[in-house]
Amino acid sequence: MTAAQTILIVEDEKDIREVLAFNLKREGFGVLEAGDGRLALELAAEKKPDLILLDLMLPVLDGLSVSRSLQRDPATAGLPVIMITAKGEEVDRIVGLELGAADYVTKPFSVREVILRIRSVLRRRAVPGAAAPVYCGDIRLDAADHAVRVAGAPVALTVTEFRLLEDLMRNKGKVRSRAQLLDAVWGFSFEGYARTVDTHIRRLRSKLGKAAEYIETVRGIGYRAGDDGDAPEPVPERSGGDCGEYGIPYGGADASGEPEQ
Ligand code: CA
Repeated sequence: MTAAQTILIVEDEKDIREVLAFNLKREGFGVLEAGDGRLALELAAEKKPDLILLDLMLPVLDGLSVSRSLQRDPATAGLPVIMITAKGEEVDRIVGLELGAADYVTKPFSVREVILRIRSVLRRRAVPGAAAPVYCGDIRLDAADHAVRVAGAPVALTVTEFRLLEDLMRNKGKVRSRAQLLDAVWGFSFEGYARTVDTHIRRLRSKLGKAAEYIETVRGIGYRAGDDGDAPEPVPERSGGDCGEYGIPYGGADASGEPEQ
């Protein structure tokens, strides 16, 4: 039995908010409520709801600004948003699409319709392989649409680079040996594989720019995607290069000092 999915309702009109909250709870959802844009952002970041129902006309911070802020913050960028627009807000609707809204509901709406849309968006996201985005520092990886963004800016990766990054990020904080990476990404091993992995890691890093620092080299073993809390940390010995490879003392266990070759 999985925990109830939580919906954040962002709507300043109290009557509408309460009707939605009442019905969503009755349908088994957990419910959070915000009456203005700023509170919405706070709740989204703090509680990580499964979906946000976002009215565009809001006090303090309007719905489009909320949507932009959600997208910019890697902690909330993956949260699906269903926008509630009033009739005649076509311009906002187009902007909203660019901001990646998952769906729209136009006022006046029926509660039944809203719940159907919510279920539909959540179901789409539950499709295997379309899992929630994964994060590592400023890097956001969406397996669902094969997209990687660094601080919100799209990064074009080859399929191999993407799979490599995905494997590292899904195993964030764990060291992945070259053999493991090869198996996960290429599905087989071959002569000279270590060099192949290194070559692709180098290309991947150069495309990631500054965020390359989240991909750490673990000397003598392989690579690791650093935890959010780890990076960017001061790196004492950076051995040349722009985004640079650097050796990470691996729990003190890798004390052999074996030169990596
Ligand atoms: Ca409103």
